[in-house]
Amino acid sequence: MKVYEAINWGAKELKGVCDNPRLEAELLLAHCFKINRTALFLRREEEVSKEQLERFLEFINMRKSHIPYQYIVKKQCFMGLEFFVDENVLIPRPETEILVEEALKRLKRGDVVLDIGTGSGAIAVSIAKYFPDCTVYAVDISKKAIEIAKHNAEKQGVLDRIFFIESDLFCNLPPNLKFDFIVSNPPYIKKREIELLQEEVKKEPIVALDGGEDGLFFYKKIIREAPFYIKSGGKIGFEIGYSQKEEVTTLLEESGFKDVEIIKDLAGIDRVIIAEHKL
Ligand code: GLN
Repeated sequence: MKVYEAINWGAKELKGVCDNPRLEAELLLAHCFKINRTALFLRREEEVSKEQLERFLEFINMRKSHIPYQYIVKKQCFMGLEFFVDENVLIPRPETEILVEEALKRLKRGDVVLDIGTGSGAIAVSIAKYFPDCTVYAVDISKKAIEIAKHNAEKQGVLDRIFFIESDLFCNLPPNLKFDFIVSNPPYIKKREIELLQEEVKKEPIVALDGGEDGLFFYKKIIREAPFYIKSGGKIGFEIGYSQKEEVTTLLEESGFKDVEIIKDLAGIDRVIIAEHKL
């Protein structure tokens, strides 16, 4: 079978499975060849070896069972950086880049930053990479996530500026440590809405999605404890789900946070909330 024939076959198999079957078939075949899509086109008349065809078949079958493309190729781009991902971590989303960009705008030299629920390390690693003059602490309850985040930090050359700690929120942080900036993209899907999610999303770790009955479980916990871990004048920034703006604003104000700012995503949905802790 030639390359173009394999693509045609893969595209047909993926019809109805994803929005762009041909593109995904091309990308998956390119991944088998360890080349990019453009290079694959140049080789479209070439024969696909038996081993490559077997791998391709395996990838197409994975995709047909709704395993996200990113878990098959084991990578996702975030803030222009390549992150290793597998089923132990949430796939970083473009919306989350807004949180990182807004944090970067507000950071000051020497700041100490905390990323809660770091997952793949997307937020922590990007902040360390694009704001070299800061120290980052990154926590996650999942040991496997911490290992992946460390790997990603190493790949980006920022491992020496991020302290990774396996921790349920603030639990295992060094005592008396206070932060200038706390960031988090916590799980915020309402428990009963998880069933309704796209099949692909349901392949992501449930601990990274489940925000409890009202979707606010982690905002409540983090915001209640944050005043003990944040410097006066320090900031907190979250990614939020649609329609969570009012509730999270109230939680923040009840906990002594002021100057609440909301930033919308490209779709016009309230996506990021930032506030300052003032005594
Ligand atoms: N911080 C990671 C991200 O934004 C993981 C978030 C999560 O698992 N909820 O991609």
